[in-house]
Order: sequence, then structure tokens, then C-alpha cells
Amino acid sequence: MLADWARQPLADTTRVLVTSSRHSVYSGMVPGWLAGIYDRKQLLIDLAPLAERAGAELVIAEVTGVDPVRQSLQLSTGVEMGFDLLSLAIGGEIESVCFSSLGKDVLPIRPMDEFIHRWQELRQSGLRLHVGGIGGGAAGVELILGVDAALRTAGRRGKVALIAPADGFLAGHATKVRNLALAELARREIEVHFASAEATGDALVLSNGEHLSFDVVIVATGSRAPGWIKASGLACSDDGFVSVGAEMRSVSHPAIFAAGDIIERVDRKLARSGVHAVKAGPVLAANLRAVVCGGKLRQYQPSGRTLYLLATGDRRAILSWGGFATVGRLAWWLKDQIDRRFVRRYS
Ligand SMILES: Cc1cc2nc3c(=O)[nH]c(=O)nc-3n(C[C@H](O)[C@H](O)[C@H](O)COP(=O)(O)OP(=O)(O)OC[C@H]3O[C@@H](n4cnc5c(N)ncnc54)[C@H](O)[C@@H]3O)c2cc1C
Repeated sequence: MLADWARQPLADTTRVLVTSSRHSVYSGMVPGWLAGIYDRKQLLIDLAPLAERAGAELVIAEVTGVDPVRQSLQLSTGVEMGFDLLSLAIGGEIESVCFSSLGKDVLPIRPMDEFIHRWQELRQSGLRLHVGGIGGGAAGVELILGVDAALRTAGRRGKVALIAPADGFLAGHATKVRNLALAELARREIEVHFASAEATGDALVLSNGEHLSFDVVIVATGSRAPGWIKASGLACSDDGFVSVGAEMRSVSHPAIFAAGDIIERVDRKLARSGVHAVKAGPVLAANLRAVVCGGKLRQYQPSGRTLYLLATGDRRAILSWGGFATVGRLAWWLKDQIDRRFVRRYS
């Protein structure tokens, strides 16, 4: 949207970007950063110059509520901000309260800037040897492989384990992708526990009865929507994600558009992934412009297969494209090119 406004100013409007952090972390490069391949600076997109080029005021604050009828946002600063048109792209949160009895060494992957800060602190105080990862989605698998690579480089590896229910392990990917990932985890001697986990005292208790202890537990369970969305009265899915149609517009409040991990499409199933968040962006921008200037709304209807590249932390990657899967250095090269190009484009 900011890129669209920078390319072609949206005349006679006041544009505001509200964001909880001035720097946006590019998630695709986080596993590579964990593995020591990238510097922290390489993952960050500074939103201030982008907002400036887009002619948008930058407000650093957390949105804590939305009133879709009065058309206003409540901000963490206490300010109430009115809007005629709203684009919601706040991503999801991680449910980590259930692991809080483990103490300070629980690291939810979101908010991602906080995760990076806390991992850096841990790294400075000496890498922990025993690391558990909870969550078997693409992010969980990439993160634990990244941690393993970092510990191996430091020559200080202890127990490294991934915990996820079997039906949540790379769900949505082809069997061949899951098998390649399992082979990679086995080759690296990363324990895989197909179970769900909860914390009791300072240990993890798995649904199969096992008790596990780690120095650090990374929580990468799937995104959940912040409670204030559903409480606002916006039409939502049962689990609180904003219900939108193919035009990325709220089905209940037409002044509100949304994209990325915070939405649930009512017309089709769409995986929550960066690929769809990024590809829906131009459609959302075009539709905001169409509402302001008049014109037909576009639809975001991805067809065919979606390319996913999962970093293995050792300058290799698993390529997943529909039923096709492969692993190796070429896949990493491709991922590295795509990721660096994305960050460069907005930097
Ligand atoms: C480690 C990791 C690796 C991943 N790798 C890939 C990959 O390779 N390919 C892929 O397709 N997907 C990947 N994903 C998934 C991808 O990160 C998400 O699908 C994507 O980021 C969703 O984009 P989004 O814009 O909806 O949300 P986000 O990228 O989370 O952005 C939300 C933004 O809103 C801000 N924000 C949040 N809440 C508020 C609030 N209340 N008020 C104001 N601002 C707020 C945040 O600071 C953030 O800048 C990965 C995820 C993780 C965790």
C-alpha cells in the first residue's frame, strides 16, 4: 500500500500508517539470522522512509481496539483515531500464556522484533545448550533447524527437539516435503516428538506422557487473532479472524479492508502465509484507490501452486511446490535471492 501511494499519490486524502514498531522484521530471513547467515540489520525494513515517500504520517503505537461503526481506532497511546477507510494488516499473535510457568526462557516467535531482541540477549549471555521448539509449521521447522545450525557453529550443542502434533507437522505441504523435512531433522539428530505440549512448573508435559526440560523453549504455534477484533463487532470467523471476501473487504463493514494473517476468506480456503500476504497487497492497495477515486474493485484469487522455500540453516533449503519437493543448495540460492530482493525493494 505504501509502495502504491509512493508510486502514485492518492490525492485529497490524509494517509496514516499506525504500526507498533518502526522497523518491520522480514520473517523469511529470521531462520537464516538465527543460523548466523544474516545480520540483524538485513532483516529489518525501516518504515519511516517508506511512509515519507508515500506521503503518510507515521504513528508508532499499538492498535488496541477498533470501532467499526463509529469508524475509529483506539491506540495504546490513549489516542482515538477516526478513519473513513481502514486497511488492517496486523498479522497474528502467538498463544504463549500456557507456557508461562517455564519462566523467562519461553520465547514466542511473535512479536518478532521482541523475539529477535530476546534471542540476541540470550546469545550474548552464552548460548543455551538445550533448546525445544513447539510448533511443526514451516516456521517451527525452519527455526529449530536454524537453532541447531547456530549451536553447531558455536560448538556447544545439547539436546535440540521439535514438538508438534503429527497432524500439524507441515500440514498443507505434500508428503514428500514432510519426508524431506523429517529426514533433515533426523540427519541433524534433532528429536521430533509428535505430541502436543503444555507446561507444568519448569517442564513440558507432552500428550504422550513424556516430561521434557529445556534451557529455552521457542513457541511457534500458529497465529491467533487478537481478542479485540472479535470484540469490536466486525464479522469474524469462530476463532476471531476478520472475515473478508475476494476483494479483501470486510463482509460486515465496507469501510474496512484487511489482508495477511489476520483474515479468513469466506469464499475459499487460503493458507496464512507471507506469500499470500505479499501477493494480496497490490490488490488491497488498488481497491482502496478504487473506493477513493471510483472504479471497479479487484479480486485476489491465487491459482495453481504456491512456492515455499524452507531454510535448513546450513545454506540449503527445502523447496515445496504443490506435489513437487526437493532439497539442496540451489533451493537455498533461490530463497536467498527472493528474500534479499524483497527487503531491498522496500529499503
Ligand atoms: C520464522 C518465520 C518464517 C516465515 N517464513 C515464511 C516464508 O518463508 N514464506 C511465507 O510465505 N511465510 C513465512 N512466514 C509466515 C509469514 O511471516 C506471515 O504469513 C506474514 O508475515 C503475514 O504477514 P502480515 O502482514 O499479515 O503480518 P506481519 O508480517 O506479522 O506484520 C504485521 C505488522 O503489524 C504490526 N502490528 C501487529 N499488531 C499491531 C497492532 N495491534 N497495532 C499496530 N501494529 C501492529 C507488527 O509490528 C507488524 O509490523 C514465516 C513466519 C515465521 C514466524
